[in-house]
Amino acid sequence: MFCPKCKSILRPMKDGNKKFMGCSCGYKENSGGSFKEEIKKENKIEVVREDVETLPLVDAQCPECRHEKAYFWSIQTRASDEPETRFFRCEKCRHTWKEYT
Ligand SMILES: [Zn+2]
Ligand SMILES: [Zn+2]
Repeated sequence: MFCPKCKSILRPMKDGNKKFMGCSCGYKENSGGSFKEEIKKENKIEVVREDVETLPLVDAQCPECRHEKAYFWSIQTRASDEPETRFFRCEKCRHTWKEYT
């Protein structure tokens, strides 16, 4: 993982009891989770989370396979005045989708 500002390698840092990846130039990764967000051409978002099995399973219907349990997490995107984005990943087919609050 590299700093988007100066391209140095990010290092694990601590702020109180919060851990995050940061850079000596002052850049800080968005809080906590190990996720990547990629916006594709057709406006699909692919989220890669390695720790998905530890996320809560909630009742949500998968738009792909109609399975009714999905892992759930939410992300506060960019500016803090924007609403958080809720993500779901189907337990069965692993399809990931998001929902704005
Ligand atoms: Zn940097
Ligand atoms: Zn599914």
